Amino acid sequence: MTANQVFEGSYFDGRTAKSRPCLITLKAEGLLIVFTDDLGPADTFWHLEGVHPAEFNDAQYSKLQFGPYPREVVEVSGRAFYDALRAAYPGTSFTLPSHAVLSRFGWRGLFMGVVVAVAMLGSAYVWLIPFVADQLAQQLPRTVEHQLGAQLAERSPFGETDAERSADLEGFIRHMRLDPEVVIKARVVRSSMKNAFASIGGHLFFHTALTDSLTRPEQLAGLVAHEYAHVKHRHSLRGLYRASANYIVLGALFGDASGLSGVLLQQAEGLGSLAFNRDQEKQADVTAHLLLAERRLDREGMAELFEVLKREHGSSSVPEWLSTHPDLDARIAAARAPGPRPERVVSVKADSLRYYFERLRAPAVADSAKAAHE
Ligand SMILES: [Zn+2]
Repeated sequence: MTANQVFEGSYFDGRTAKSRPCLITLKAEGLLIVFTDDLGPADTFWHLEGVHPAEFNDAQYSKLQFGPYPREVVEVSGRAFYDALRAAYPGTSFTLPSHAVLSRFGWRGLFMGVVVAVAMLGSAYVWLIPFVADQLAQQLPRTVEHQLGAQLAERSPFGETDAERSADLEGFIRHMRLDPEVVIKARVVRSSMKNAFASIGGHLFFHTALTDSLTRPEQLAGLVAHEYAHVKHRHSLRGLYRASANYIVLGALFGDASGLSGVLLQQAEGLGSLAFNRDQEKQADVTAHLLLAERRLDREGMAELFEVLKREHGSSSVPEWLSTHPDLDARIAAARAPGPRPERVVSVKADSLRYYFERLRAPAVADSAKAAHE
């Protein structure tokens, strides 16, 4: 090593843009920097381990960085400094020109870089885009969601609506005194499949086969509470958005929102009634338990509802609700476990619920009486 060769340079402390003139000496353990002004400490020492890869632009100008952020910087003009550095500290990363850093990592490094880039793109595709779609779904105004759901219900009515029973069901739900912010519209649809589901925008569908097999208003209250919870958490819309994520996110990025509702309707029709995932089901149950507890409604009704559906399990036609609502035994147990302690009480009139429940069930009762008579 050329002993104690000294170079003139400029020093920056990394926090201010002000430079300080300095003299740099290359020592075995690092760079000794002595300031030639008297605007701060007289000197500083850069240990080699803390010196970062530099930019040897054309070797006429050298820039070195030191320490954690904000990094200190030293700039020196002239080829002599560059040559002295390389001679003094051979093999260190900061003596390599910037393009040499890449060649130092070689093809392997380049390959790894490509792998990382592809992995990032892949995770954007499977994770980030659905995540952004979910965020967008939650920002859609509920009124817009409700209109979208109404259009969908018109296009795919999921069966023939029973107007009278629908009115009774609406009466029942009105007396459950749910959150008016969450707009819902319930229909009873004639169907031999024991099913009920929450579509987009709070449009609830209850099949006659299921409502007819209920025996107590508390069971219907449990069913309504569960489906209502799906609406409150916007599970259908979020499922639809995730299913159409690529279109929605790209559309939002390029400002093409005009075709959005058309695409959503098309997608929703293709998907039919969306199956929720286990987390969404769990969330719906938890919300439903709290809702029933606040209204002092017997949660045993919910356990009985699950049992009604479970009994169907052995029959020839497995009800759709069962296939989309797994873990029935666990859910029955959860309904019978000590419930949540509500912070508020919503008073509901039990006899009003019973009144509408019996009206809703009247055609089924009449049918079975007629069958027994014949
Ligand atoms: Zn559900």
